[in-house]
Amino acid sequence: MNTTPRTFHRVVIAGGGTAGWMMAALMSKLLGKRLDIRLVESEEIGTVGVGEATIPALLTFHNLLGINEAEFMAATNATFKLGIHFEGWKAIGENYFHSFGSTGNDHWSAGFQHFWLKGREWGLSRNYTDYNPETVAAFANRFAHVQRGALNYAYHLDASRYAKFLRGMSEAHGVQRIEGKIARVLQHEVDAGAARAGDIAALQMEDGSRVEGDLFIDCTGFRSLLLGETLGVGYEDWSYWLPCDRAVAVQTASVREAWPYTRSIAHRFGWQWRIPLQHRVGNGLVYSSKELSDADAPEVLRQNVEGELLTQPRVIRFLPGQRHKVWERNCVAVGLAGGFVEPLESTSIHLIQRHAIRLMQLFPAGGISQADVDEFNLQSKRDLEHIRDFIVLHYHVNARNDSALWKHVREMDLLPSLRHRIELFQQTGRVFRPSDELFAENSWIQVMMGQGITPERHHPVADLMGREELQKFLGDIELRARRLVDSLPGHQDYVAQLCAPF
Ligand code: FAD
Repeated sequence: MNTTPRTFHRVVIAGGGTAGWMMAALMSKLLGKRLDIRLVESEEIGTVGVGEATIPALLTFHNLLGINEAEFMAATNATFKLGIHFEGWKAIGENYFHSFGSTGNDHWSAGFQHFWLKGREWGLSRNYTDYNPETVAAFANRFAHVQRGALNYAYHLDASRYAKFLRGMSEAHGVQRIEGKIARVLQHEVDAGAARAGDIAALQMEDGSRVEGDLFIDCTGFRSLLLGETLGVGYEDWSYWLPCDRAVAVQTASVREAWPYTRSIAHRFGWQWRIPLQHRVGNGLVYSSKELSDADAPEVLRQNVEGELLTQPRVIRFLPGQRHKVWERNCVAVGLAGGFVEPLESTSIHLIQRHAIRLMQLFPAGGISQADVDEFNLQSKRDLEHIRDFIVLHYHVNARNDSALWKHVREMDLLPSLRHRIELFQQTGRVFRPSDELFAENSWIQVMMGQGITPERHHPVADLMGREELQKFLGDIELRARRLVDSLPGHQDYVAQLCAPF
């Protein structure tokens, strides 16, 4: 095929959660002068109301939008995030940290882990985390922007305030917001011409009005009203590898200073998150409905949080997986409408960003080209499959014996892509990252070692160092990280000072 021979200037975004407004903000900033962009959302339906931890790539998105960091942080009550503390994932009582940034110094032929492994053989190595400045800063509850040896960071943010913040920017760039419920999604009839037949023509609103468009972005959340329900694009179910299918979330008042990392605490039935913002803490349980009932989950969550409840616990159902395609005809799904894997590594907002940027790169200004659609679908599929493998890794390599859930994920058949990565690391200490993958070597190494995989060998280049040289090499890296962190202010004080002018 085949290019649909018409111009695209009327874009309709269905849904105004994080996905809808991120999409609107980027598209209006880049193409606002050329396009007529309308966003439809319903206050009565509301948004999923969670999604508060991010990864460092969000800074790139904010740079593209020209966002002032302090203004954004003040508006969304954001804090800094240096990584995730995994508690009890390997085994009950055993913890590790997955930080942003890199650990130690690599040699071109071999990563730092090889030198660390050699040092361990000689009794010279300290904890792996001691060589990573982000982890040392997280545990010391310190943070600042530093010029030399900069810390890699992301944010914890209030999701509903974030959507409002982006809405303000989008409206300033000309996006028109339409309040109301979509009652039906209308498709072009056959007599509209062969190329358009079956394409989405308009959203029929409950009040009888119609919102017509050329290109439709489905940001209606798990409902997937346009792509899933109307165009009938099916869903690939990943629950065999990711058996958790529910979440219950609640917000609580802060009872201590906000720490600069997300806590992820494993339980018999799944895991719990704690995300500290400036003014409150976001909490939730992600669980398997085979291990915990929806009736009991809210009470279990209540027992595992501290501080006064600010909202009522709310159960959210989901099926891990992805739509077979995220772009079909004249409709592109972004956010939960296109797929979802649990928020263990805070990747969903990032995927919205990736989709939004990709759509701008492949924008069908002169008509939809099937090659663009195929490329978009291929890249999007790869993104989520890579993230799925990384998340499955956390579950699979465990020594927990407290429920059928942990036994199942330990014993399940792995996808070949993940099995190969684990075997390669276990046998040789090596990790390779295809260039467009989200998680880099340091992430895989920290999680694999944290979950208890110790490589059988190290690279021979590490044997070239004598004992004293290796001791100095490791000692210098550890000292640099400690000195850097000693010079930093407390995280909460730093955030307060930064946001004060706003
Ligand atoms: P939603 O927020 O559900 O928005 C859907 C929009 O569509 C709403 O505006 C709604 O009003 C509108 N809509 C739907 N139907 C209609 C209709 N008929 N008429 C009019 N409007 C309609 N991501 C992260 O990156 N980090 C995290 O820490 C994280 N934690 C999560 C925890 C849980 C338990 C879950 C479930 C998700 C989490 N996510 C996280 C994912 C993140 O929440 C979502 O990716 C993000 O919020 C985007 O959601 P959305 O905009 O696609 O959908």
